[in-house]
Amino acid sequence: MMGNINHRSKPKRGRKSPRGLGVWEQKFSKKLKRHHKQFAKKVFHRLMKKSSTLRTTLKRRSKEYEVEFKISLTEVRELLYKSYGRKCRYCDTKLIVSNMACDHIHPLSLGGNSTLPNLQMICMRCNTRKGPLTDKLFGRLLRWLSRQSTELEKYVLRKLSSRDF
Ligand SMILES: [Zn+2]
Repeated sequence: MMGNINHRSKPKRGRKSPRGLGVWEQKFSKKLKRHHKQFAKKVFHRLMKKSSTLRTTLKRRSKEYEVEFKISLTEVRELLYKSYGRKCRYCDTKLIVSNMACDHIHPLSLGGNSTLPNLQMICMRCNTRKGPLTDKLFGRLLRWLSRQSTELEKYVLRKLSSRDF
C-alpha cells in the first residue's frame, strides 16, 4: 500500500472548515458589527487568520523558551472574543483587531507558560512597554509614573515604547 494516497484520511487538526467558521462568525457578528459596521465580515476573517498566526507564534516562542504550550485554536478564539472591544488592562485603549496583542501575564522569559490562565490580550503599545515585566511590576510602574510629573511620565513611557534604552 506504500505510495497509495488515502483520500479519506482525516483532515489535519487546525484546518478550518467552513462549517466550523460559521459558528464563530455568528458568535463574533454582533460585536464586530457594533465596532466595524459594514466591515464586520472583513474584520472577522482577519481575526480568524490572526487566531491561527497567534497560536503558531505562541507555539514557536514557547519552544524557544522551553515552557509549556497548551492552548487550542478554540481557546485562542475565545480569548480574542472575550477581549474584543474591551479596554486594555493597562490603559484606556479599546482593543480591536489592528491593535491587540497577546501578552504572557507572567513573562515567557521568566518561565511563564503558554496556557490560557497566563495569557491576556492587551494593546500593542502596552505590550511593548511591559516587555519582560510581570503584570504586578508593570502595574506598579504605571502607578508610580502616574504620580510623577506629566513630563517625566511621558518621557519614560515613550522610552519604554521605543525600547531604545
Ligand atoms: Zn494598553
